[in-house]
This record gives sequence, structure tokens and C-alpha cells, in this order.
Amino acid sequence: MDCCTSSNHEGVAKKECPSCGTRGKNVQLITLKSLLKASALETIEPDNSYVFCSNSACSTVYFSGNHSQSFAEDDLKVPVYQKNPSMGVPVCYCFNWTRERLSQAIETDQQPTDQIKAHVRAGRCGCEVNNPQGACCLGNVNAFVRALEKG
Ligand SMILES: [Zn+2]
Repeated sequence: MDCCTSSNHEGVAKKECPSCGTRGKNVQLITLKSLLKASALETIEPDNSYVFCSNSACSTVYFSGNHSQSFAEDDLKVPVYQKNPSMGVPVCYCFNWTRERLSQAIETDQQPTDQIKAHVRAGRCGCEVNNPQGACCLGNVNAFVRALEKG
């Protein structure tokens, strides 16, 4: 699976979150199957499409394309970067770069983005089963690091 090589998902329908109205991105069923707790997983309908809401002000993480279901951070086994501001939350889930670890790396002049990119290039990432957004983290990592460097 080349989860990190193509960031464009053309032809994928974008649907609006029933809680906040933000347009979300479709995620693969495997992402929900990997990351939902059993109690939530037991309710998914594999014929539905599921969409990720990235709005940090909204508590909905996933909703179904037909708006019959939605899941919050509590329904996932992992904290969700976009919904949870604590320092212990991963920005890069595959290689466990939390906000805290990234901050420490930047303070000590390491290049975490380069390390992550090298792993991605080597085909070691598995964003579709590790990252709640179901897609590559590099955009989030870059934005977070840029914000640190500015601050
Ligand atoms: Zn939302």
C-alpha cells in the first residue's frame, strides 16, 4: 500500500460533517477496523463510506457518508491529533513522533522531518492502519515543525 506517495485522492467524494459542516476526506474501512474500539467497531456497516472530520473544534472523528453514524475520539483506541491538543499525542503515528518528541528534536537541532521522510521513502509507513486520518502525516508534521520554528 502506497499510503504516502499520493496525496491527491481525485474522484473521492467529499462529504460534509453532520456535526460541524466541514468537508471531510474519505477514509478506507481498514482505518476504522484498525483504530475503533470493539464497542464502536461492532456497529460499523461495511457498505457505508466513512469520512474523517479534521476540524479541531469538532468532536466528530468519523461519520458515515449517509450521515447515519458518527464516532468521536472516545471511540478510538488512540488519541486523535486533530482533536486532542496534548503534547503526548502523536503527529506521526507510524514512527511515534508525538508533539513532545518533535519539540525536543527541534530544540536540539535534529531533523525529525528528514527521518520520517526517509522511513516513508523506504516503504515503512502504514498510515492507513496507524493514523486516524488514514493518510500520510507529513503535512501535519511539516506544519507543526514550522509553527515551532516560528515560535
Ligand atoms: Zn466535524
